[in-house]
Formats: sequence, structure tokens, C-alpha cells
Amino acid sequence: MGVSQLGYLGLSVSDTEAWEAYATDILGMEVSERAADGTLYLRMDEYHHRLALHPTGLDDIAYVGWQVPNEREFEALKQSMFEGGIEYVQGSRQEISDRMVRDMVKFEVTGVPYEVYYGGKVLWEQPFKPGRPITGFKTGEMGLGHVGFALEMDDIPETTRIFRDVLGFKMSDWIGPTPFFHVNPREHTLTFPPRRDPNDPKKIGHFMVETNSLDDVGSCLDLCMQKGVEITSSLGKHTNDHMVSFYMRTPSGFRVEYGWGGRLIDDTVWQVNTYDKANIWGHLRPQTAPTPAS
Ligand code: FE
Repeated sequence: MGVSQLGYLGLSVSDTEAWEAYATDILGMEVSERAADGTLYLRMDEYHHRLALHPTGLDDIAYVGWQVPNEREFEALKQSMFEGGIEYVQGSRQEISDRMVRDMVKFEVTGVPYEVYYGGKVLWEQPFKPGRPITGFKTGEMGLGHVGFALEMDDIPETTRIFRDVLGFKMSDWIGPTPFFHVNPREHTLTFPPRRDPNDPKKIGHFMVETNSLDDVGSCLDLCMQKGVEITSSLGKHTNDHMVSFYMRTPSGFRVEYGWGGRLIDDTVWQVNTYDKANIWGHLRPQTAPTPAS
């Protein structure tokens, strides 16, 4: 079975206060815990946290947490990595304690820091309380959402091979040169778009969270307009996952995709598709959006 979900993201941020306001008031996440070192843990569901914001100032990804279902799968995946030539390092006692998991190993692929773990901490006894009135996030066994890392075009084939053939991710589809992968029914959990801007050195391009209601997306759009959060792509619908979403700027400069209604993959019938276009409609950059009639 291998990796079963995108379990957590660790972000290195420069402005934890701005992130706290953004994550709770705009995205609707809940502050779960503040650690002594300034780490801010954010909840989206029954898990203790889905995001960990570390005040280490890079404004980029710190680590990506891939959950496997149990210890047996954990050992099997480590064996696959060993045989596939991926060097992993055992997580330290402190790191495992900070992640609130049972065991964890760390490795890098094309410069992005990943972790594989099992046994994340769940708090059913403390129901998730969204930071603003939303119906909630579509997470659970499908993980926190999806994440995209900008790669140089030349790195995409080998990175694709490693995720597919060594780590056991399943191909969903291709949009032009960009591969998309799934690890559960969520249409894609991981993607590697070619780097658009050579002057932007960030590894993370965006991460996506999905809400339970289209109204949660609409009310978030309203809040962005009212509170001056930069919308980087208008409301739109993707060709591959059919998500109705928009993109906004985070306090770290990279983007969050906020969406609803993504389609699900049934692996017994799924066939890899190729698309030329990323959007059925929408997702326009602001400068290309029509000027409203006055
Ligand atoms: Fe996306």
C-alpha cells in the first residue's frame, strides 16, 4: 500500500503572527498548540495538526510528511527506498516527538525535504473548531490536500520515476509536462510543475486545501477582497481534478489553492490522461481578468 496520505506540512516562515491571522481568519484553520520554540501547530480536522509553522524565516517548505498506515508498511517502504537507492535518515527522538508520530525517517528528492512516518496523533476528544465559520475541510483518509513543488524541467523525469517506481505513488495524469500523482482517492496529492520564474528560488509553489462546501470557498474569496489578501488566480475549475478553486498569496509569498468539489479516483477503473490545458474555465491571473464595467 505504501504512502496513504499527505499527513502534514512543515513550513519555515518569517512572520508567524501574520500566518496565524491568515490561517485562522482567512483559511479557517484552528491553532492547536504553540510550542516553546515558537512553532505554531494548526489543525484542519481530528489530527493534532496538519501544518506546523516554524519561525525559521525561509518562507519555504521545511518538510513534507507522508503517512503510511502502519509499522509494517513503514518498514516495507524503507526497504523499497534502500533498494531504490534513496538514502534516508532516521528521525531523531526530538523530531519524532515534535511531529507527534510513532516513527519517522527523512530523505530528499530533487532538493525537497520529505519524511515518511506512521502513527500520527489524533484528538477525537477535542473536536476541530474552525477559525472562521466554515463547514470544514475534506481531509481524513485523503490527507490534508495536495502540494506542488517547482522543479527545473530537466529534473521532472527522474523525480517522476522515483515517486512512481520507488515510493509507489500512482500516476493520475499529465498537464503538458507536469506530472500529477495520487496515493488515495484524492485526484492528486503531489505535482511537480516546471519552475515558471527563474528568479523565484522557493521550492514550494502552492499547497491546496479542500472545503466541504462551495460556500466556504465563496466566503473565503469575499474575505480576501475585504482584507486585502492578494488573489493570484481567479475562481476556476481544473481539467484534471475538476476542483473549483482560486489561488491566493500567503504571508510567505507562495500560494494556497482553496477549493471544493474535487473528483475522486477509483483505481480499479482509472486511466492516465493527458491534458493540454490546466483549466476548463477560470484561474485567470489578475492582469488578464476583464476590467469590471463601471
Ligand atoms: Fe493545485
